[in-house]
Amino acid sequence: MKTITIELYPLVFFILGIVSVFLTGFTALIKFHIGKLKPLLIRMELYTVIMLMTMGLTYVFDGMAGKTGYAVVLITNTCCLFMNCLIVFCFNEYLTILFMSKGHFKELPKPLKAGYILTSLWIMYLCISMFTGQSFTIDENNLYQIGDLYFLSDVFAAIIISVQMCFIIAYRQHISKKLGEFLVAACMFLMLSSVIHIITADDFITQAALFSVLASLFGFTLMEQNEELHKAAYTDPRSGLPNAYGFIYEIDCKIRKGTAKNFDAFYIEADSTGIIKNSYGKEQYDELLQKYCEFFCAWKNKNEIFGILGGNFFLALVERSRTEEFIKHLVDVPLEISINDENVTVHIGAVAGGYEIQENTKIGGVVMIKITTAITYAKSVAKKTVAFLDDETERKINEEKAMMDAIHEGLKNEEFEPFYQPKVNTESYTLCGSEALVRWRRDGELIPPMKFIPLIEKSGLICVLDFYMLDRVCKDMREWLDKGLTPPCVSVNFSRKNLSNPEFTKEIYDTLKKYDIPPTHIQVEVTETIDEYPLSALRAAVDSLHGYGISVAIDDFGTGSSSISLLKEITFDVLKIDKTFIDFKDEKEKKLLSYIIEMSKAINLSVIAEGVEDIDHVHILQGMDCADIQGFVFDKPLEKSEYEKRIEKREYSLQMIST
Ligand code: C2E
Ligand code: CA
Ligand code: CA
Repeated sequence: MKTITIELYPLVFFILGIVSVFLTGFTALIKFHIGKLKPLLIRMELYTVIMLMTMGLTYVFDGMAGKTGYAVVLITNTCCLFMNCLIVFCFNEYLTILFMSKGHFKELPKPLKAGYILTSLWIMYLCISMFTGQSFTIDENNLYQIGDLYFLSDVFAAIIISVQMCFIIAYRQHISKKLGEFLVAACMFLMLSSVIHIITADDFITQAALFSVLASLFGFTLMEQNEELHKAAYTDPRSGLPNAYGFIYEIDCKIRKGTAKNFDAFYIEADSTGIIKNSYGKEQYDELLQKYCEFFCAWKNKNEIFGILGGNFFLALVERSRTEEFIKHLVDVPLEISINDENVTVHIGAVAGGYEIQENTKIGGVVMIKITTAITYAKSVAKKTVAFLDDETERKINEEKAMMDAIHEGLKNEEFEPFYQPKVNTESYTLCGSEALVRWRRDGELIPPMKFIPLIEKSGLICVLDFYMLDRVCKDMREWLDKGLTPPCVSVNFSRKNLSNPEFTKEIYDTLKKYDIPPTHIQVEVTETIDEYPLSALRAAVDSLHGYGISVAIDDFGTGSSSISLLKEITFDVLKIDKTFIDFKDEKEKKLLSYIIEMSKAINLSVIAEGVEDIDHVHILQGMDCADIQGFVFDKPLEKSEYEKRIEKREYSLQMIST
């Protein structure tokens, strides 16, 4: 049997060559962060393919008789030598692209310039040596022989690589630590292989070294690019601090390590009142925020994280044992800035939502959601500098959220309806008006306003509900008028939140117009407590409503802190005495009630007593000259159809009351 002997060296070269072909293809398929690196790496890999393949062929054809053998050995060896040069040249280009792309150099650094010049000289030397046989010769048996000055090529390579290595060491701060270390190690490895080649004249060493360096260069470039992409995605470009993704990523890392449970996460709004923002120019405010970041970055330890969301919103991950100290800082960060060449100390406060990361917290994204909820809770409910989201609070918030969603849905589906509570004039015992009170008919159940109004009053949705109610009342009123009934005036409650809407009164008037309702048929009820809004806003609204011919009642009179001054400043039409005054407990309180009625009459203000539950109170109020009464003593708030019957009948008898 004929045995085929395959020599080890050419086999290895061919295999490495094929690997390089795959590497080239792979490089071609990948998207590079620094675009110019891709064609360069492909070129380098192709040179390596040629280098390895020609080296393999050299071994196969070495010593082959005839012209073909001679030509192949000559060409492949020459090719291989030139490829060595070109790869080193490309390595210089690689360094140029890598360092120049970071923008740290305006012009080509001198060591790299030297790299190009020296490589060009090396190529020139190789050209000369081709004709002089200094690098290699081919003897009469077509066998490859090394030339007398073969080592010069290695000397060139070693010098160029050492220059490149010095450059990398000098400017390593511009690239990642890992890539820097790899490049220096690669240079040392190549220099070592040159020295070994000088000593042993074994080509395998040089080629294998070049191949392994190139393969790992590809790997490290990919790694560097991944890191760059990671950095771009996870950090804020201006401050270099982690952004929301970076913050979540860091928490995820801690969760994997099992240490996250020792940390508290915070969502911070610095200068939440906006006072500082409004007191300084944009540049100075930005400077202050930058110093704010610097303050916390200096305070935090290496395990903790301070991140930025943008503007005056920040994130922090603090070791639980240091949370107390952190919160103390959050309350007041004194920062110095220079204004008109004078150093001024500015105190920045904040509102923050915190969350204690639990042992069973599985993903950082959840922590982010928790602290986002917590800051909303801190601002709108707890009204505290820092509020933590515990399970109970979260449950309540979620319930409220679900309730708000249901209210939105309910408004869309018209699940809310007005109930009418009659107002009775006790001189004639006839119906003299009514108050529209909202009821929510949900899944067959009738929900009273106190179960949902306090919640929606926190948002602007209360205003939507008020106008929804006005619309429904006007619609009912139109129906009654069209039926030929004579409905008395209905008062509609309007939250004081409406005062922030400059079109508030016009919208009321427009609704009346939409159903062609005379303005005397609708009354607006506003509560007395208007602490959130300036008195002037309420005065303007009342004046404007008067302009449209709509009367205004002041509701819950006596429960606020500025009842009398309100009467002094604003001309209301009706004063509704709160139930707490009607339920007087002693003579003193009875007198107070009587004086309120007397005072109102003196200033031409109609009075109505609200929440009257028994006939004795009706008589007492009658004695005090308060004839209009609204309360369970006559009727509870009634469904539309029931109230319609009252409009038809109009009369109330004392008999009705006693039943
Ligand atoms: P309010 O404006 O002071 O309405 C009077 C409340 O007292 C009504 O409660 C009414 O049912 C109740 N009431 C009337 N007579 C008696 C009585 O003799 N005894 C007792 N114990 N209570 C009596 P309701 O309907 O539960 O409404 C509660 C509050 O919800 C209202 O207080 C008002 O502030 C608010 N509200 C109701 N509807 C609306 C609305 O459409 N818009 C706004 N913004 N608020 C509304
Ligand atoms: Ca009312
Ligand atoms: Ca009231």
